[in-house]
Amino acid sequence: MLCAQTHPKPTTKMTPKKMTAAEIEKSAIIIDTHADTPQRFVDDHFNLGDPLNGGNLNLDSIHKGNLGAEFFSIWVEPSIYKGQYARRTLELIDSVKQQVAKYPNQIMFVTTPEGIEYAHRTHKFAALMGIEGGHSIENSIPLLRQYYALGVRYMTLTWSNSTDWADSSGDIDDKTIPHTKEGLTEFGKDVVYEMNRLGMMVDISHVSDRTFYRTLVISRAPVIASHSDARALCDAPRNMTDDMLRAVAHSGGADSKGGVIDVNYFSGFVSQAYKDAAKAQQPEVDKAVADAKEKAKAEGREFTPSDEDKIQRSYMDRIPRPPLSMLIDHIDHIVKVAGIDHVGLGSDFDGVSGQLPEGLDSPADIPKITQALLDRGYSAEDIRKILGGNLLRVFKEVEAVSKQLQAEDRPRITEKQPFDKPQK
Ligand SMILES: [Zn+2]
Repeated sequence: MLCAQTHPKPTTKMTPKKMTAAEIEKSAIIIDTHADTPQRFVDDHFNLGDPLNGGNLNLDSIHKGNLGAEFFSIWVEPSIYKGQYARRTLELIDSVKQQVAKYPNQIMFVTTPEGIEYAHRTHKFAALMGIEGGHSIENSIPLLRQYYALGVRYMTLTWSNSTDWADSSGDIDDKTIPHTKEGLTEFGKDVVYEMNRLGMMVDISHVSDRTFYRTLVISRAPVIASHSDARALCDAPRNMTDDMLRAVAHSGGADSKGGVIDVNYFSGFVSQAYKDAAKAQQPEVDKAVADAKEKAKAEGREFTPSDEDKIQRSYMDRIPRPPLSMLIDHIDHIVKVAGIDHVGLGSDFDGVSGQLPEGLDSPADIPKITQALLDRGYSAEDIRKILGGNLLRVFKEVEAVSKQLQAEDRPRITEKQPFDKPQK
């Protein structure tokens, strides 16, 4: 027998068979940190069991793409819901819980890294929540605490609108909007500290560069960018410079393993050409939105963010979608600049008024990302980190820091809290 004559020497290392994309996905917990589907739950009465019907995320696509966990974005449109931020926040939170209640055999509501792992073991999809935009807390630390109590596990300090205590990249150049001196006011620092103490991840997507750096000085826990790309590849204020990517990797202090940047799939953050084309047609889009708003008002109808989204999409559909490889370039770039332990996925599914890269329409297409990474020579271990391992590590560390801070029991608030009336 041949094998009797050719014993491998004990010192010879056997080369392991290369894992396929499907095998890697089975052994990974895939986590996405940003989907805006709650707008659809509330405004369109969309259920996760429904066909996609123009959206990006439903149960069918979740199962096809083996998506393990989603952070549903609790985003309150700041002009339509002015004066009702908390109410809208609560309605969106409720909508996520209603979906979990509707599909108890497929979805599990979880609030911890262990919960994500448990859901994965029991073959359920884990639903989590993150608030997108600090205006939801209405300048109230007690409200922040109650959102945590309801299960919110990250907060993006601002959306495109600055708050009284943190500045947004969306309006930082608008001289009519008041901005902070240093990126965060004293109250803003208290918000970050309280998030650290509670164990709520601090999300720096959307904030201005100055607010970004100020937050990194203040935060005792590593931070996340729940849905941002690399500015070196696409020059959008929502994307992050190489220096910022490195700063996230080093966030959380000396003993920290650092934060994570979760790449946004929106073509306008992925591709410079797409972004430029979108900018060129923006005046036309703005006019169409204004006209539709007027029309709705005249007819006594409500004009919802989803109405606006439909108009935006109809224009964005005219621009050719960039190839998926351009999104992979962002992952590559962040790996090169910040390291393999600091990149993840933050799709922005159901949140972009425009196209995603070619062939990337729902979680069912995540295997294409896995395959592309494999083709570029990433190891199975590295791919598992990108697909969700890195986020899980950061989430665990944020909880560990929270335990430390709660044990310290030192005075927390540096400034009088505006309990009585909103700060102006
Ligand atoms: Zn966003």
